[in-house]
Amino acid sequence: MLDLESRFGRYSLGFFPSPLQPLKRLSAELGLEVWAKRDDVSSGLAYGGNKIRKLEWLVPDALAKGCDTLVSIGGVQSNHTRQVAAAAAAAGLKCRLVQEHWAPWEDAVYDKVGNILLSRLMGAETLLEGEGYSIHEKETWERALEQVRREGGKPYAIPAGASHHPLGGLGYANFAAELARQEEEQGLFFDVLIVASATGSTQGGMVAGFAALEERGARRRRVLGIDTGADLEMTREAVTRSAQTTAEAIGMKRPLPNDAVEVDGRFCGPAYGIPDATTVAAIRTGARLEGMLTDPVYEGKSLAGLIGLAQAGELPRDARVLYVHLGGAPALDAYHRAFEG
Ligand SMILES: *Cc1c(COP(=O)(O)O)cnc(C)c1O
Repeated sequence: MLDLESRFGRYSLGFFPSPLQPLKRLSAELGLEVWAKRDDVSSGLAYGGNKIRKLEWLVPDALAKGCDTLVSIGGVQSNHTRQVAAAAAAAGLKCRLVQEHWAPWEDAVYDKVGNILLSRLMGAETLLEGEGYSIHEKETWERALEQVRREGGKPYAIPAGASHHPLGGLGYANFAAELARQEEEQGLFFDVLIVASATGSTQGGMVAGFAALEERGARRRRVLGIDTGADLEMTREAVTRSAQTTAEAIGMKRPLPNDAVEVDGRFCGPAYGIPDATTVAAIRTGARLEGMLTDPVYEGKSLAGLIGLAQAGELPRDARVLYVHLGGAPALDAYHRAFEG
């Protein structure tokens, strides 16, 4: 459909297409037909998640350029850096990760369990650094790249979330084609997709991918991003930038529609990486009704968005809604205090 594989390299890191699953008990609760696309269970690499889908298109570039070390950056409990560590292990590359204090979350084991434990287990070198949440380029990251060069290695730079990168949106542009194929096979159509957004190339890639399909005559649909960065403008800009970069990369002829990037800032909680009561309630709802685990940083917030929008009547009753589950549950242990009481 988009035929990206004939134009770009792809290194298989997962089991695709990821499953489509009706969420029957949640649908009954919300009075709305809700399904999930389970990108959280679409790879055998260290619990998987959305960065695996993106990295499939970056790893071939790293290999083609003769790089020997993947260098990336994220918060202490970053799912992204854990997936970079896994991709590096699988591709036989070294890995160096800058782990910054992005979330003001105090927990005695925050820098010991969950994602960071798994990254260390897979042989990545983790550098703990200061600095707050921002998806802009960092000096700390430059230092890590320079260090690899000084040691005689050849680094491949992967920015936060693999987003501000020319190939960062390809995975989720291809997701659009993958979903369209599943819909065709199963005789379904999803009117609205709900997706957690932070560094932007998940939603940005999707927006470009669906727009490219629409250019070829596909039906229009809404991709609704839920801001998890607690900075609506920064998130919207990041999504828009990735959508435009990706649209160009995949050879779209027309500019993206003006209303293609929709981000809702009402469910992000007080700060990046900090859940509020609504986030925690949504996590409990997903777990108790569906046995579906979501996390306090990302998917708990997008699930809160889905539930909140449905309850407020902001999603049409006759719409079929797709909750795109992007992973994140490995951070849960580092957030046990959120669930006390
Ligand atoms: C990274 C991540 C997101 C956000 O994706 P972006 O591409 O950074 O916008 C959402 N959910 C989970 C679990 C993630 O790890």
